[in-house]
Amino acid sequence: MLKKDGVPSPEELEGVKPSQERLEEGPVVIVECMQEIPCDPCYYACPKEAFRPFGDINEKPEIDYEKCNGCSICIANCPGLAIFVLDYNYSEKEGLLKIPYELKPLPEKEEKVIVLNRAGEEIGKGRVVQVLNTKKQDRTAIISIAVPKEILMDARHIRLIRGSTDEG
Ligand code: SF4
Ligand code: SF4
Repeated sequence: MLKKDGVPSPEELEGVKPSQERLEEGPVVIVECMQEIPCDPCYYACPKEAFRPFGDINEKPEIDYEKCNGCSICIANCPGLAIFVLDYNYSEKEGLLKIPYELKPLPEKEEKVIVLNRAGEEIGKGRVVQVLNTKKQDRTAIISIAVPKEILMDARHIRLIRGSTDEG
């Protein structure tokens, strides 16, 4: 549960997930911002106006998933690192996960990485497909990782294999 250990429960997650139908249509944002906080840069970042206007800055974001094309621009604009993009149609067996990443060193394209869930537990391996780190992103890189489809909804972070004892 989010308030207890910082990890959303399945019920809390259900409340912010795009529908299965929309997930299967192509790349789409998932905004795991579940607490009322005074914050709204996501709303201004989206060129498609997929974030509905905030009535009050403390409101939680609401998304019109039909307007979202998965462009990923909003990811680096979220100070809470709460925005991800998922693409279930990346390949037959892999989905694509885009995450905000502020650690150093950055992973490199084609690097194999350990995939972690929201609790920081290892759930599999992935392959870095793209590292986007422009000046505009202000030190929040966007890392695209190909992961097995079955772990795509649970995968939310990565750990580098290089330098660790796990070279698998
Ligand atoms: S991924 Fe792109 S289109 Fe979708 S909400 Fe974020 S900025 Fe808007
Ligand atoms: S920018 Fe991030 S933390 Fe702030 S309201 Fe939007 S999703 Fe939540």
